[in-house]
Amino acid sequence: MSNNNNKEHINKLGELKNPRTLSVDRNMLSEASQRSAFLPETYTSRIERCIGCGENEHFSAEDQKQWYEKSKNYIFGTRSRCKSCQKKWKKLKIEISKFPKELRCDCTLDDLENMLATLIEYERISETARPDIALFHRIYKKINEIERRANVPDYSSPIFEKLGLVQK
Ligand SMILES: [Zn+2]
Repeated sequence: MSNNNNKEHINKLGELKNPRTLSVDRNMLSEASQRSAFLPETYTSRIERCIGCGENEHFSAEDQKQWYEKSKNYIFGTRSRCKSCQKKWKKLKIEISKFPKELRCDCTLDDLENMLATLIEYERISETARPDIALFHRIYKKINEIERRANVPDYSSPIFEKLGLVQK
């Protein structure tokens, strides 16, 4: 056990000193994790770079235990977002889950632009930057439907350009 002189801390160089370790309770891991060969025996505190904000985050042994055993994340995966980006990611995910329903109702161009921006941000801070192509296309289609009424030719919406989406 650590005493006060070798307490876990991040030094001025941003390095983690005296990282703490905790034992892995394999029975608490997800089924997929339990099926893995060579499971680690301990969690060791470490520094992770958040894919959302780019900050170096302290992923403590306690947080890891929670992440793998309570939240059942895959043992060889990592927490790729800091707590605040994780919160944001979850919020975006919930918003996006409502899009299919919203798309069946009347949407304004502003609504649709916001949907696209939300999808882009969600993908930016997701581990797998794989876009939900079907959802993107439903939004594109709706934008085109509205803009056709305003005599704007297909795929020339300023919204696409503004959000940096390449058109074919
Ligand atoms: Zn972050």
